[in-house]
Amino acid sequence: MRNKARQTVAAGMRSFEHLLPASTSQAELLDTVRRLNRDPAVHGILVQLPLPSHLAEDEVIEAIDPAKDVDGFHPINVGRLSIGAPALVPCTPYGCTLLIREAVADPTGLHAVIVGRSNIVGKPMAQLLLAMNCTVTIAHSRTRDLPGLARQADILVAAVGRPEMVRGDWIKPGACVIDVGINRVPAAEPGKTRLVGDVAFAEAAEVAGAITPVPGGVGPMTIACLLRNTVVAACRARGIDIPADL
Ligand code: NAP
Repeated sequence: MRNKARQTVAAGMRSFEHLLPASTSQAELLDTVRRLNRDPAVHGILVQLPLPSHLAEDEVIEAIDPAKDVDGFHPINVGRLSIGAPALVPCTPYGCTLLIREAVADPTGLHAVIVGRSNIVGKPMAQLLLAMNCTVTIAHSRTRDLPGLARQADILVAAVGRPEMVRGDWIKPGACVIDVGINRVPAAEPGKTRLVGDVAFAEAAEVAGAITPVPGGVGPMTIACLLRNTVVAACRARGIDIPADL
């Protein structure tokens, strides 16, 4: 959240933080969201998840005005994405598509395998890759022969949350590998930790045509796309044409 607020301001926008205590009631939280919905000075609303267990996350997300839903989690935006209508798209998978476009000249017809089927990464990633004319397979914890499936991928997206699960010998030579995972593991120095992805980077980099590092790679793109979504929402609110390169 700190990074998001800092970069929002650095990009020339205003950032308002509403820090509610963990004991906040559902009614208080919904009231805050509805107040922001009505505020014309606010173009984007982000409720930082996960919420404490006594709060109903779905109801809170559904309370956000879909036009201000810069995380792209509201069912209206999820539905619009799936039918190819203009939507606010979840930031992490959208950022992944920008990285893939840099590395892959023409994704048409390529086999994309996504490991992970969460609502915030795996599923929207699949919709976006379908829209890029990829042939898409979604894998998850019940998938059989995951290494064999991953080896068929021209584009492999790992969004699992398991440190370095994807090994070098799971990668098709030349494949584009996008590592969404952020996992904290013990560092060599006692008492310290470090971040690793879902892909064993050094092994995979020997085989892949392109690969994103962790940290770096997908993480910074998520915040960039949050800012992008806010600009899109502000343009739509004011009836301004959205620049084609946004
Ligand atoms: P999630 O909701 O926990 O979903 C994880 C997915 O991985 C599930 O679909 C699960 O399958 C699947 N999975 C778990 N173990 C597996 C295994 N052994 N083999 C195959 N699939 C397995 O996680 P998420 O929110 O999508 O996040 C995934 C990772 O991305 C996390 O490390 C998270 O921190 C990171 N992340 C990074 C960013 C960023 O900005 N870079 C943003 C969001 C998330 P089932 O559905 O069958 O349980």
